[in-house]
Order: sequence, then structure tokens, then C-alpha cells
Amino acid sequence: MNSALEHVNDLLDFIDNSPSPWHAVHTIKEHLLQAGFQPVLEQEKWTLTPGGRYFCVRDDASIIAFRLAQHLDAQSAFKIIGAHTDSPGLRIKPNPIPASDGLVRLGVEVYGGPILATFADRDLSLAGRISYITSDAKITSRLIKFDQPVLRLPNLAIHMNRTVNDDGLKFNRQTELPLIFSNSIAEQIPCDYLHTKLLQTVDEDISQILSWELHVYDTQKGVIWGADHEFYANSQLDNLASCHAGLTALLQAPTPNSSEIQVLACFDHEEIGSCSAKGAESSFLPDILERIGIALNLHAEDYKCLLARSFMISADMAHAYQPNFPAAYEPEHKILMNRGPVVKLNVNQRYATESLSMAMFKQWCALAGVPIQTYNHRTDLACGSTIGPIISAKLGVRTVDVGSPMWAMHSCRESAGVLDHEYMIKALTAFYQHELVLA
Ligand code: ZN
Repeated sequence: MNSALEHVNDLLDFIDNSPSPWHAVHTIKEHLLQAGFQPVLEQEKWTLTPGGRYFCVRDDASIIAFRLAQHLDAQSAFKIIGAHTDSPGLRIKPNPIPASDGLVRLGVEVYGGPILATFADRDLSLAGRISYITSDAKITSRLIKFDQPVLRLPNLAIHMNRTVNDDGLKFNRQTELPLIFSNSIAEQIPCDYLHTKLLQTVDEDISQILSWELHVYDTQKGVIWGADHEFYANSQLDNLASCHAGLTALLQAPTPNSSEIQVLACFDHEEIGSCSAKGAESSFLPDILERIGIALNLHAEDYKCLLARSFMISADMAHAYQPNFPAAYEPEHKILMNRGPVVKLNVNQRYATESLSMAMFKQWCALAGVPIQTYNHRTDLACGSTIGPIISAKLGVRTVDVGSPMWAMHSCRESAGVLDHEYMIKALTAFYQHELVLA
């Protein structure tokens, strides 16, 4: 349990340092730099050294890291772990709502599919990135974050919403979700006021912010809970827990002595369908893999052979059984907390798992001494999806969709099992470590 708790404490720090997808990529980058990975830019030519470790960032919110083998040959393959850096929630609209009734409120757009009710009465704040002109007249961007809570969505008192416990907590997305930001005074113009507040949070001499993207985050730090410290809770477990597990596996796996290339790909925009210049649907991963082949002088046909031999583990969180709601689950496929990684199956290809990829994942889990569970959604409920089917369709790479069990997916505060995080790290490490064994 001690090493499992260590991994979870590391994960909670990782999430607390990553209040937005842009911050998550920054955090991953810091870990990679510390471990000796070198940055490469898409805008420049690459010179890669066999055995070298590199990473590439696209538009601040997606990142691909890779570790090269000492040599490439007919048996080479990419071993890819995929995850996503974004989480559903609220994003700030460009123009604040004009001050009225003594209050400045910020209008929000709903990003992806959050459980909106869980954002009420929480100590919310802002994190994201701003774009501005530098002193030498170039446009650049940087991260921005308010450390203290600056926003709130106060609930209506029960005396004005008598049926809330029977009907559930519902918010009209346009009129009832704006967040309270300030007690205005008469001369404040909300747009300038927000601009001034943003400028005050950066420790740099910036005269004017040209544009920004701001994510609403929960300032409450992560915790370990349960009578015997079996569980943990934080925001964004879906899917920063998988990013962290993949990163830990990449950093701790031994250098490949075979000709396999270890790849970790963490994408933005999964929660809104992955279709963007940096999402899993984009050219980012195909471009990076192809450029590895080009930089290592791989013949075009050899590259296609290499790709055809490759394998991807798409890691995204899975639904653990909550015994208060038995009717929500497929009774023969209950996923229990702290009982190991989940393989997700769906015949309509909402998940990319097939029998061979599942068999291979089972084998890596067995080698790592990790138990395994199998998930199937209720047949009378619509199933979720993830980046597995998108990337496997794009690259033609054999893929298994897996994830750690968790409760309350897409809540502002999600929870999961301490042992499961370590199980996932061990399974992913075994994947990087052991040679692909397909007849
Ligand atoms: Zn997810």
C-alpha cells in the first residue's frame, strides 16, 4: 500500500499543478525535462539520435513524448500510450455580463459534458492562457492562473427551490450558470475590470492582453480518503490520472533494448469529440510518428511495416460500480474499486478493443502481477467513447481501450481507488518493457 499511496500523492500533486489542459501539458513537460527528454519543434527540422528521448508540444495543450530504440530494423514497432489532457467543465465567455444589482458576473460556455450541479457552491477559480505582444513586437502566449477562489455559483436556498431534493438540481445553461466574480462599484466597466485583474495576476510587464482562453477550476486540493486510505478524490481524474500513469510508466520503464519505440501521446479536446488541430483526430500523432521515421532514414515501405506492427493502449477512466445505484450498471460486468485495470469492450466500436488486443493486454497485466476487469455498458444505455477508436482508425494500429475504475465521472470532484492507480502504472510499464508477442 505504501508505494501505491506514494504514486497517488504524486498524482494529486500532478493534478493540483494542472488546473487546465494548458497547465497539464506544462506539468508533463516539466517532468520530461527533468528526466532528460529534449524538446523538438514541429516548425524546425529534426536531428534525432538512436536511443534519444524527445517530446513535442502542439499549441500548448497536446504533447507527444517518445523514447527511441538503439536501432530500427524489420522488427521495429511503436508502442503508444494515448490519453487526454482536457476535462469537462465551464469556460469563460469573451464579454462579462454588464454589472447589475451590485455584482459583476462572468458568462460561461459549457465545455463537454460536465455534471453541472456539482459546480454549485464550490471554491472556483480561473486558469488558462493569454496572448499578448512582447517588447520586440511578437505575439506570444503564456499560462495564467488565479491561485485564490475568485468565482462562485451559489445555489438557490431550499426555501426558494422546495422540490430540489425530488427533482434534482438543474441549471438553465444561459441564464443560471453565470458565475459571480465581484461586488461591482459604479464606475467599473466589466470588460476592463476583468482585463485589469488578469494583468494583475501575471508577474510580467505586459501592457495589453490581446486574447485569452480561461477554464474554470476547483481550488480544493486532492485528498486521500476512506477508513483505511483506500480511495482518493480530486477534480479532473478523467483523464489526468491516465496521463500521469502513462508518464510514470514512460519515466520508469527501462530503456528499450529491442527495436521498439515508446510513445506517450496526450491530447486536448477529447471531451468535445477530438476534432481540432491538436485533438486525437488531428494530424499531430501521424505527423510525429512519420517524422521519427524520416529522421531515422526509414524507407517509406519499412515505415508502413513498422506502423502495421505497432500497438496502442488508449487509457481513459472507467465506471466503477456504485452500490446505491445498481440499476445503472450491467449486472454481470460490475467494475469494483481497487481490483485492477478495466478493459472496455463495445461491439459498435465505441471502444477499439478486439480479442487479440485484449489478449495482449491481459498478458502484460499477468507479467506485471496485476488483476484485470472487463467492462461492458448496459445494452439499454448509450455508451461513452474515447480516443482509442479515432486513433486506431487513423493509423491502422491495433488498440486496446483500458482505464482505471472511478466514481462520478465528469463531476467537479471525482474519486477512485488508491491500488488501481499503481496497478495501471505497473500494467503500462510492462507494456513498454516487454516485447510485442504476436505470432
Ligand atoms: Zn475521459
